[in-house]
Amino acid sequence: MRILVTNDDGIHAPGLEVCIEIARALSDDVWIVAPETDQSGVAHSLSLNDPLRLREVSDKRYAVKGTPTDCVIMGARHILVDHKPDLVLSGVNRGQNVAEDVTYSGTIAGAIEGTILGIPSIALSQAYGPASREKPHWDTGIRHAPDLIRQLLAEGLPRDVLININFPDCPPDAVKGIAITSQGKRDPGLLKIDPRHDGRGNPYFWIAFERRQQSTPGNGTDLAALADSRVAVTPLRLDLTDEPFMTRLAAIFD
Ligand code: MN
Repeated sequence: MRILVTNDDGIHAPGLEVCIEIARALSDDVWIVAPETDQSGVAHSLSLNDPLRLREVSDKRYAVKGTPTDCVIMGARHILVDHKPDLVLSGVNRGQNVAEDVTYSGTIAGAIEGTILGIPSIALSQAYGPASREKPHWDTGIRHAPDLIRQLLAEGLPRDVLININFPDCPPDAVKGIAITSQGKRDPGLLKIDPRHDGRGNPYFWIAFERRQQSTPGNGTDLAALADSRVAVTPLRLDLTDEPFMTRLAAIFD
């Protein structure tokens, strides 16, 4: 099995080494194509106005001056064009990618791109909290990911479906199990603008997320699973169509 590993935290990120370790537990044929710099929050963007610079870091390891999406295309359509990957692993992201994160995440976008190219693809993220901020529990993914991925691949991913896996903020032994989840929904009040002033008194701003725990994450969601120290496994569809509303609209506009 040929595995293409990418991420959005960049070629130097500790989580990339974690993902490589997970991939190597599954196969000897592991290729890495990751962004030169941190691409967190770029979602599924493509570099169309700048050329893609490709740097061979070492054997089977490349850095691309671009986004995770660029990296997967570069991997599947250039570096590995003669023998396409059988699996794309994207991550392990430093920080959870649940609820609305799914729409901002470059990590998940790497798996989206793999899925578009017809390759089974899985996004991996490690939750952390104030206590583990400097040292996320990377061992949790190393311990739990390989068997979980084997089981998912044995079942087979449907076409146009990717898997979003989030590891809870706890050591491997404290994990209570695996939860098959739906994409949750956060309190929109958690997203805000943090205004500051620079040395010359001019204003500037950071987008900020309040770290406060959601009081009641919806049952069966990725948020609830992480809060309960379970590994959240969410199947996501490329097709974003809302079918019930499509049917209603069709009746109105017919
Ligand atoms: Mn990231």
